[in-house]
Amino acid sequence: MLLDLRTIINIPGGIVPFDMEMDLSKLHFDSVKEFLAPLHVTGQVENRAGVLVLEGHLSTDMTCVCSRCLKEFPKHLALKIYSLLANELQDQDNTDYYLLDNGFADMWEIAGTALVLNMEQRQLCKPDCKGLCPKCGKDLNDGPCDCREDRDPRLAVLGQLLENDK
Ligand SMILES: [Zn+2]
Ligand SMILES: [Zn+2]
Repeated sequence: MLLDLRTIINIPGGIVPFDMEMDLSKLHFDSVKEFLAPLHVTGQVENRAGVLVLEGHLSTDMTCVCSRCLKEFPKHLALKIYSLLANELQDQDNTDYYLLDNGFADMWEIAGTALVLNMEQRQLCKPDCKGLCPKCGKDLNDGPCDCREDRDPRLAVLGQLLENDK
């Protein structure tokens, strides 16, 4: 999805607002089962003393999979985006700027990149999710299971050291 910025590229103070929706069905994240809504992208690009500044918001709703207990849960995602845009790079190594293509900004690339970079690798159904017992698979949020706690294998090695001391 391209945003036409040609009208403000050379006009300090010029503003181009945007409000668009982007299909997320082709994006796959391990922690997300599905997106329940398109990515809603709103904001504006403003020419501030010759520098094009993009500021906006991303939001969507999704069904996540808890990385500890594997339960599915709904989550609303909201992100702020901020980007500097330039028609040409003065300095090839300066990656702070997003490069325009003939005065157009590829909003999918800008918004999609922000989404990917900010998406949590692991989603938790709640911050203190206890997860599943690695032995019997019981959801420990529902209460403890009957498995005995395994000793930390490192403690066993330390135990050997103590044995040798005797
Ligand atoms: Zn969980
Ligand atoms: Zn167990």
